[in-house]
Amino acid sequence: MSDRKRVCIIGAGPCGMAALRNFSQSALDVRPEVVCYEKQNTWGGLWNFTWLTGRWTNGDDDLRKYIKFNTVVRNVVYNDASQNFTVVSTDLKAGVSSTEVFSHVIVAVGIFNVPNKPHFDGIDTFEGRIMHSHDFRDAKEFKGQRVLVVGASYSAEDLAMQCLKFGAKSAICTWRTKPMGFKWPKGIEERPLLLRLDSNTAYFKDGSSAKVDAILLCTGYRYAFPFLEDRLRLQSGLTMYPDDLYKATLWLRSGGGRLFYMGLQDQYFSYTMFETEAIWTCRYIMGTIPGEPKSQAEMRADAENWVARRKELKGPHDDIDFQADFIADLSAAVGYKPEAKKVADMFHKWEHDKDADIVSYRDQSFQSVFTGTVAPTLKSTWWRAFDDSKEAFVKNIQPPDSKSRYATQSCPPMERH
Ligand code: NAP
Repeated sequence: MSDRKRVCIIGAGPCGMAALRNFSQSALDVRPEVVCYEKQNTWGGLWNFTWLTGRWTNGDDDLRKYIKFNTVVRNVVYNDASQNFTVVSTDLKAGVSSTEVFSHVIVAVGIFNVPNKPHFDGIDTFEGRIMHSHDFRDAKEFKGQRVLVVGASYSAEDLAMQCLKFGAKSAICTWRTKPMGFKWPKGIEERPLLLRLDSNTAYFKDGSSAKVDAILLCTGYRYAFPFLEDRLRLQSGLTMYPDDLYKATLWLRSGGGRLFYMGLQDQYFSYTMFETEAIWTCRYIMGTIPGEPKSQAEMRADAENWVARRKELKGPHDDIDFQADFIADLSAAVGYKPEAKKVADMFHKWEHDKDADIVSYRDQSFQSVFTGTVAPTLKSTWWRAFDDSKEAFVKNIQPPDSKSRYATQSCPPMERH
């Protein structure tokens, strides 16, 4: 292998694309050779799902030459002696496998691919539909039904509300650690954990039971990196700052300081964080961050500080500040200004809106801290808007002004919340 660095990016979702773009825009004398493997036939990953993500196709077309589409990475091992990685991939169309050697690997495969599907006693006797939130597309399918929602996080709230809005008879949300505690509209209630099912009867931890027609598992996702050898594979579950990662990206346990993960944390920030991680990771690999690389002991101490702070987090508001501080720390190291604190203020407002009124919080309009653009408001409320198509959305919006139903707040357009 020549002295030129050779970087393998696994995944062409938002993180992989951000890394690709940063490499492609860097100075020629430090720019490594880059190959990106993407198992789908296009980029965007999870975010390729809707008309909202059309920007990928337009904006980054010149990045296409770096990506091997329809190509799945099967195996990644680190070679201690030569301090590089052997990567085996398969071109799914041609059915041909190949082996290449890289100096660095960036794992950017996303974290919402593999649904966590817990088992409940008697679930095999249930006669209705069982679906994970990952596969949920159309709430109308649950019209007239009594829905059991398992989980007490963002998907649980989202799906319970969507189902009720589109005509479900009722929704029971069952929690394990803590109820969501919103002021629910009539038709939604929360109960302690589901213990078992007997045909269509669900039995809960408080001794109550209820007949249900469908079960929606809003039970989150599992990390899955089956292509990585064991010592390279992240061990912790979904969290605000995984163990053993310097700056939440550089794997400390093995891989010679040359293996990186991106976009692993549970997310309040999305694109802002991905872009910050991409800038940091690319510049780290190219050796252009002042003061880096640090010693293993310094990197470990830094990571352990973040993990210690993570363990003290008490809820969404703490999580938001934690993630804003993480982004501020990472971006300061590379001179990037993603306005993390200002964006965090918007997330706090968003959480307060939810607590104040779970039915209307989606109607708020926000202003981008990046462009200053204020999102239009809806003519009819979200609760009354039944057509999710782009055309209906465009018809239903009105320019924001002082007479709109809600005061305008700020939110970058690409954030998920
Ligand atoms: P999540 O945040 O990981 O929550 C999983 C939920 O499932 C938790 O309440 C968890 O309970 C529960 N759970 C897991 N295993 C269980 C079991 N065996 N029995 C009972 N309950 C169990 O997953 P998510 O809600 O799907 O969210 C995933 C990501 O998507 C998040 O980053 C979220 O922000 C995002 N998202 C955003 C929106 C939005 O912005 N509107 C909507 C949907 C999703 P414990 O608390 O007890 O572990």
